[in-house]
Amino acid sequence: MPLEIVHLPPLSLDAYAPIAGDEAVAEIRSLAEPLRDARVLHVNATKFGGGVAEILPTLTGLMRDAGLDAEWRIVPGDDAFYNVTKNMHNGLQGAPVTIDAAMQEAFMRTSDRFRQEWESEYDFVVIHDPQPAAMRALLPQAGGHWIWRCHIDLTTANQQVWGFLRPMVEAYDAAIFTMPDYVQPDLRIGMLAIIPPSIDPLSPKNAMIDPALSESIVYRFGIDPHRPLLLQVSRFDPWKDPKGVIDVYRRVKKEIPDVQLALIGSMATDDPEGWTIYKDVLRYAAIDEDLVLLTNLDGVGSVEVNAFQRASEVVLQKSLREGFGLTVSEALWKGIPVVAGRVGGIPMQLGTTGGRLVDNIDEATEASLDLLRDAGLRSSLGQGGRERVRRYFLSTRNLRDYLALFTALRDDRPELVPQGISSGH
Ligand code: UDP
Repeated sequence: MPLEIVHLPPLSLDAYAPIAGDEAVAEIRSLAEPLRDARVLHVNATKFGGGVAEILPTLTGLMRDAGLDAEWRIVPGDDAFYNVTKNMHNGLQGAPVTIDAAMQEAFMRTSDRFRQEWESEYDFVVIHDPQPAAMRALLPQAGGHWIWRCHIDLTTANQQVWGFLRPMVEAYDAAIFTMPDYVQPDLRIGMLAIIPPSIDPLSPKNAMIDPALSESIVYRFGIDPHRPLLLQVSRFDPWKDPKGVIDVYRRVKKEIPDVQLALIGSMATDDPEGWTIYKDVLRYAAIDEDLVLLTNLDGVGSVEVNAFQRASEVVLQKSLREGFGLTVSEALWKGIPVVAGRVGGIPMQLGTTGGRLVDNIDEATEASLDLLRDAGLRSSLGQGGRERVRRYFLSTRNLRDYLALFTALRDDRPELVPQGISSGH
């Protein structure tokens, strides 16, 4: 049985021209022309929940519209496998875990099952994150150019876990990281690209919706649209610090008693920790009618997240580690200022505008209070952030970078390899 394919609706690159600019679309078309009909495969572990599942529908759909023969498939793990990969994920973000011999064996056993389900040949294979990372080492004879795309914050990677992953990564022709800081010094690989992720300005998550509709949506979930709202949208994961967000809200509430907090979190199929953390956060939230805790199982899908982001005064992303944090660009794109942890990919998104970077609960409280008290500041930071997202963090820039990397690999032109937003864009 082949790896499960994810079915996607068609997208039109031309629809992005009014937002990203005619030049950006023309550049994509000219990079794509020599790659016409190239077979591209993206592989990750889940089609729902988390940033990768958010990016791949647009990236794959736009690659198709640009003339490539792109598809997206997922590897069918089980709970035991995802327990190992969640530990790997946590270790790569710096947690003191060990991937022992039994875990390594379980990882390789399941990876070998994926190998047996692999079918057909591609010109470019893009493997996302650790879950399917062993594929290249297990399929050394398969043709095409193989790329490992890491979405994780590796700034303080646990070296035992990285040491387990590194030989698998070194089997690839190229690796993509979100920022130069994530590249491990001992990695030996043919090509190294720096490509930040992106948001889709036309998706149900980010497309314009009427303010009255946003208000009516949040109202249905227990929020009073006429009172200030703080929001964090994140998987239930300790690295996203949901309890810290509740602490910030409680401190803000002492100064601004009518403030409300919405914590929205989805349950990803490859994230077995989610429910445990959710219950813990639920207990910590206690009974407070101005604090709502919602998940996709309450009916909060992309459009609802969009509405909550638009209806908020301030969006929080109090992460302690963060590969990128799409939620930051999502809020900024809607002109909402963000108070966020000074970690991983977040400072790159905020730049000198967009909101405030914070290192602890006190700073997050102070920044939230400043913003809640000053509508002019909220608006100027929000507008600055939106412009920055338009320039650097839309799907069109991400697609352009992938096409440049494909060209670099196919034609052996290392000078085309994208090196991040500070150079070349
Ligand atoms: N998300 C969502 N509903 C939720 C929680 C998260 O739609 O309840 C989305 C969020 O809008 C974003 C993605 O999941 O698009 C999370 O990506 P991010 O890069 O912020 O974090 P990750 O989960 O990849 O660590």
